[in-house]
Amino acid sequence: MHIKRFIQKRLANNSFVIFMLIIEVQMKLLMHICCAPCFIAPWEHLKNRDDLEITGFWYNPNIQPYQEFRRRLETLRVFCTQEKIPLIENDSYDLERFIHNAVNSEHGRCVACYHDRLETTVRTASEHGYTHFSSTLLYSKFQNHERIIQIAKELAEQYHIDFYYEDFRIYWKEGIELSKSAEMYRQQYCGCIYSERDRYEDFYRRLDKKSKL
Ligand code: SF4
Repeated sequence: MHIKRFIQKRLANNSFVIFMLIIEVQMKLLMHICCAPCFIAPWEHLKNRDDLEITGFWYNPNIQPYQEFRRRLETLRVFCTQEKIPLIENDSYDLERFIHNAVNSEHGRCVACYHDRLETTVRTASEHGYTHFSSTLLYSKFQNHERIIQIAKELAEQYHIDFYYEDFRIYWKEGIELSKSAEMYRQQYCGCIYSERDRYEDFYRRLDKKSKL
């Protein structure tokens, strides 16, 4: 049972106390969203939580090329409008900075990429009075889940804001079905040009081989 419902039941005769306690347990969550297909299933499970007030946050300068970035953003806008989800957009697109960080990151490009996106989310959450932050990066089976948690926890400490953790990967299949039935644009690679190459290189090499037979 949610804490709020428990309190309501126990203190049904004292509406003022209930009101004060509800204020206390309400979480204002800023949810970093990497794309609408990764958000659709977590949203389905969070949207009726009465202890959560969710705002979406777009910041993904890792998505290349630029037209792909715009297409994913537009897909998210449409979804948020349909679902009446407030959305904060940070549409910075510093390609040079992304490439520089990806090439020079001692822990690998994905770690630099997670850190940049999560830190911008936490900073925005803290500037706008949110109590919690989270990310749809926790939905993907292809991301380094443990590393994302570690970075998020470090940032939570640094910025004095709570990290809302859920293993959204359990909704993986459901997310695919929901996004397909909503006829949502579903991208075929993570975001950067490296991931695009990784996604298609083998495929085209195999195709070449076949055509030579
Ligand atoms: S593969 Fe994905 S997470 Fe890794 S750097 Fe590229 S866009 Fe970022």
